[in-house]
Formats: sequence, C-alpha cells, structure tokens
Amino acid sequence: MFLIPSSWYTVKKTEKKGRGVFATRAIEAGTVIGDYLGTLIKPDSADEKKHGLYDMAGGKKYDILADPAIEGIHFVNHSCANNCDIYPYQGHMLLFALRKIFKGEELSLGYWMYAPYDTETTCDMHACYCGSELCTGTMHHAAMNFDLWEKLVKKEFGQWYHKIPGKYGDRLLPLPAYPASIRDDKKKIYDYNLFGAATKFPEKYKDATLPTMTELRKRIRKTGRRLSFPSLKITVYGIRDGILLAKRAHEHIRLSQTSPRRRATLSKVQC
Ligand SMILES: [Zn+2]
Ligand SMILES: [Zn+2]
Repeated sequence: MFLIPSSWYTVKKTEKKGRGVFATRAIEAGTVIGDYLGTLIKPDSADEKKHGLYDMAGGKKYDILADPAIEGIHFVNHSCANNCDIYPYQGHMLLFALRKIFKGEELSLGYWMYAPYDTETTCDMHACYCGSELCTGTMHHAAMNFDLWEKLVKKEFGQWYHKIPGKYGDRLLPLPAYPASIRDDKKKIYDYNLFGAATKFPEKYKDATLPTMTELRKRIRKTGRRLSFPSLKITVYGIRDGILLAKRAHEHIRLSQTSPRRRATLSKVQC
C-alpha cells in the first residue's frame, strides 16, 4: 500500500525488471512511502517461481507475501545503489526514502537476499540488472553483511521480532496510523547503505578536509546527490555496508570492471 499521494508516483513497465515505481515529484529524505501489505506466511515458505519476488521478510517468524494483482510498494525494484529502505514498525515493513529522491527517479530497494552458501559464487536467478555503476551483479548480500543487517533489524523491531502480527494465512491489514517520516538521527539502520543519485551532478563543497561520516550522510540525505570536494579532488558516491565509496578525480577506479558481475553470471548455484 502506498502512503504518499498518488500524484507523487507512477507505476510503469521497465525494460528488464517488470514493473517499477517512479517518482513524479521530489520526495524528501525520510518520507514514509508505503507499507508492505500481503498475506502472512511462514518464513521462506513462498515459491519464488510461482509467486515471483513478492516475499518480504518480517520478523523471525513470518514473511509477508504480496499480491502482484494489487498495486503497492512490492513493485519497487532492487538496486545495488538503492534510494529507499525498509523500516520495521509495529510488525509492518515500511518503505521510506533514504535520501532526497528526484522527480523521474525510479524508487529502489536493496532486496538483500541471503548469500548462497558458497560465497565465491552466486546464482543466475538473482542476477541484478539495476544498471548502477555500483552494481554488484547480484541481489544477494554477502553473508557477513547480511548478519550485521539482521542484527540492526532485530534491534529496530523490538518485541515484534519474535511475534506475528496475525495468523498465518491472514492478510496484514493497514495500521490505524503511520509516521510521516523516519527520523534519521537515532536510527542505526538508516546508516547502513546510502548513495547519491547517479543521474545528477554532484553537490560541490569547499571543505579542506573530508567531513565525518555522520556529516557526509547528512549531506547525501538532504541533497540526494553525490558529494564533490574539488580542493580534495574527491567525489563521494555513497556508503555501502558502512564503508565509504569515493573516487579521486585523477584516478580511474573503473567500478564496473571490478564488480563481480562477470563472475556472477559465469557460475550457477541453486539457492
Ligand atoms: Zn539466488
Ligand atoms: Zn545491481
């Protein structure tokens, strides 16, 4: 279910990823965009071949299986440089804007599927087509990072982590009220992944030394952009798994060539 006015977004077909959700106006950082509604099922009991990628993990004891015939935030596609994230709230999974989202941008989310057991390989079924130069080639998340993320979810979820908001087979109903925005100051989960928009010019700053991570995060959220520090010859792309992604002007990092995308498509693993 969307929680923003219908004039703020549009659902349309994408080239490789089925339907997607696009912003039709700018959306401020922190805005709660929607609630992931569907049927409560046992964790990992959905058949992906039959149901598609419409299964959202809830607390430890349930998943939420969305109905693709109903329009909702389950149409938000995966990206390796996502601009939205999930916030666990009273047993519900809310989608919110990680940073300012620009008019025309596709809303995206890190699906963060658990890594295949063999961490050197990944599967074709979950190959990523997000098109970002920061693409890792897969919707899977390294096991180590997944565990860290799960810890953060657990903390945010509180008591709901071990409860079920209904019975298996029930439809998860909308809450009577929702927060309009997720405050970013106390929420650790918010600090995990954050990327400036690749389609926009970076925001320029005059700092003579690189600001702290907290300050960098604040600027990315507010501007929605990558950050450029001309006097340092550094452009900050974002933060992944708590690690700063940046590039020096005269260096050639060739992110796309160092990404595991090529490796990812070479091997097949059942997962
Ligand atoms: Zn897979
Ligand atoms: Zn990707």
